Amino acid sequence: MIDLHSHTDQSDGTFTPGELVAEAVKIGLHALAITDHDTMAGYAIAKPLAADAGLELICGIELSTRFGGTSVHLLGYFPCEAPSAEFMAWLGFLQESRRDRNRRLIEKLQSLGVDITLAEVEAKGRSLTGRPHFARVLVEKGYAKDIQDAFDQLLDESARGYVQRHEVPIDEAIARITAAGGIASMAHPVRVAKNDWEKLAKYVGELAGMGMQAIEVFHSDHTPENVAYYRSLAMRFGLAMTGGSDFHGGNKPSISLGTGLRNNLAIPDGILLSLKRLVGGAQKA
Ligand code: AMP
Ligand code: FE
Ligand code: FE
Ligand code: ZN
Repeated sequence: MIDLHSHTDQSDGTFTPGELVAEAVKIGLHALAITDHDTMAGYAIAKPLAADAGLELICGIELSTRFGGTSVHLLGYFPCEAPSAEFMAWLGFLQESRRDRNRRLIEKLQSLGVDITLAEVEAKGRSLTGRPHFARVLVEKGYAKDIQDAFDQLLDESARGYVQRHEVPIDEAIARITAAGGIASMAHPVRVAKNDWEKLAKYVGELAGMGMQAIEVFHSDHTPENVAYYRSLAMRFGLAMTGGSDFHGGNKPSISLGTGLRNNLAIPDGILLSLKRLVGGAQKA
């Protein structure tokens, strides 16, 4: 069993890279991909720890991209070789645009009478500060009763505190991942096109045409019907299948590493082998 979608406290998870590696070893995973949002800092910290523990660790990333009028999460996998220096520099640019959003979000919240500072929020994050860190400060300071309430009242796209963040056009994200030697996979397709299966098929076809090579068939949020349909899309468009729990630790307590939501996942090792074949590195592994 493997898990190709997980987050550390370097983005919006709660487990340190070391704790995540330890959990993967404890449950007997054969391979783990760390796919933090916009940063590979968690992977870099985990890498020597995984090597010591005999766990195969895969370098990954999750990017928020713009596709037409909607936001689509895109996973990038580098199963054999590290991404290029150019790609790493580009991630630095994405992190800077996030900092810019965070500054504007603080100003917006202050204009709504919410008294929090950027320093307080950044103290919650590690490499990257995101809205979940804002949510925690809002709860601590009594502006919301829990994390969900903070999103509903202030941080969600539909809420009054929302400010937009620069999102990379998806064609650019796909091109950059593949140019850097990686594989681009559509993350949790269940959140794209809101279960309009015809529309999703059209989107997946377009993205395959742009060079996207995979789709996340297995995910904690997917029903058996979802899995069957996404598998058929993979076949139809000649895409590889990826899968993972999207583990965030205490930020999504119902999701377990490896086994997902109430044991709805058991991703076979062959999934990773197919990805390695795609980047021509199966013989090296
Ligand atoms: P950011 O990338 O900083 O804009 O934050 C995005 C993260 O916030 C997502 O990965 C989710 O974990 C979380 N999030 C976004 N919208 C909601 C929501 N409505 N309710 C709860 N969590 C949310
Ligand atoms: Fe997340
Ligand atoms: Fe996501
Ligand atoms: Zn994720």
